[in-house]
Amino acid sequence: MTQQEPLSGQPSAPPSPPPFDPDALALNEAIRRITEQVIPVSDTETVALPDAHGRILASDLLSTLDVPAHDNAAMDGYSFAAAGVSAQGDTVLQVIGSTLAGRAFQGQPGPGQAVRIMTGAVMPLGHDIVVPQEFVTVDNGQVRIPPGQERGQNLRLRGEDLRRGEPALRAGQRLGAAECGLIASLGIAEIRVVRKLRVAILSTGDELCAPGTPLPEGMIYDSNRSTLRGLLNQMGVELLDLGIIQDDPVALERAISLAGKQADAIISSAGVSVGEADHTRSIMQKLGQVDFWKIAMRPGRPLAFGRVGHALYFGLPGNPVAVMITFLFMVRDALTRLSGGQVEATPLLRARTLNPIRKRTGRTEYQRAMLSADTDGTPLITLMANQGSAVLSSMSRADCLVVLEHSSASIPAGGWVNFIPMRLLG
Ligand code: AMP
Ligand code: MG
Repeated sequence: MTQQEPLSGQPSAPPSPPPFDPDALALNEAIRRITEQVIPVSDTETVALPDAHGRILASDLLSTLDVPAHDNAAMDGYSFAAAGVSAQGDTVLQVIGSTLAGRAFQGQPGPGQAVRIMTGAVMPLGHDIVVPQEFVTVDNGQVRIPPGQERGQNLRLRGEDLRRGEPALRAGQRLGAAECGLIASLGIAEIRVVRKLRVAILSTGDELCAPGTPLPEGMIYDSNRSTLRGLLNQMGVELLDLGIIQDDPVALERAISLAGKQADAIISSAGVSVGEADHTRSIMQKLGQVDFWKIAMRPGRPLAFGRVGHALYFGLPGNPVAVMITFLFMVRDALTRLSGGQVEATPLLRARTLNPIRKRTGRTEYQRAMLSADTDGTPLITLMANQGSAVLSSMSRADCLVVLEHSSASIPAGGWVNFIPMRLLG
């Protein structure tokens, strides 16, 4: 059975609705056009290692040392030379001293001699085995070692982590916890990184009210800026929060033109749907070069993209789930590129769907779902009942997003689908 076929005895796929609007821009094409417009920031700065987390490395980092610098013990125990131990019976060796992490062993062991050694201690000259202390008996200055010990066991070899002169990290890598630790392991205290991106965010709409204030009749709280702030904080950018801007041409023009002077990228939400695009379009025509797209995706159909001053401009839809999805699948990689970073593909995993899925061909869909597993461990997904693009609670509750590709049609229960765990999306 190929992965695409339904389970035997399962219902067939529900009929697929007619294909989506053929004039809409395919998501891949939208991403391609965005990528084309990105000119990476090239200014760099030196930061102290404690401030480097989340930053983008400016140039390849070659290892300045062998790490570890010496062969050393990986366990507490006894070191000895592999030559001269019995393959069959026990071997009894004389213990001539002990060695701790942080100092070299001064003596030069001879045949028939062992050294008591602690984890991290430099291996005595000529020794190439460590046997853990639990496996030996010690009596009267002698250690009795059972047979079956192998050369190289419980050692960490010089340079096995990093070799001097070899690339330890690449330009464009984002410095996470492991990378900061690795830089420290080379003894480096300052590092050259790309300067932080400056990203301006704003919410537009007369119906929006800031959290922490009473909610007048008919208004809603502005959630989009909080979502965007969370998504952007993970990217280590400098945020310029322009707040809520009313649906007023003068206020909007003032805010966007200010952002165009100060930011590398501007992200607004709302005001780009069919009913409102004209209003925003006339302002954008004055300030820069912005296109209004109808993208073949769900959620997230309307999107404005272009340039205002030196800044890239992303006019996201207003609905909160659409804001997250368009950010995650269009804006995030563009900002990573803009900040000089390497884009890493998000891995797609496979699961069987417990629900039949209705899907139009000709658009990419992201559906929220819960994850479980079959008795044999096969991942299973259950779509969340309400896929509304305003239902932010389901974005918080969902375990994963099911990704239904542009050309795929409806899928029967039991069919295989691609998904991305929410944890991988941040
Ligand atoms: P629009 O794109 O302006 O037509 O907005 C689409 C929907 O998103 C409307 O229901 C808006 O009320 C809602 N919306 C717009 N901005 C926000 C925001 N900042 N927070 C929450 N919902 C919003
Ligand atoms: Mg609106």
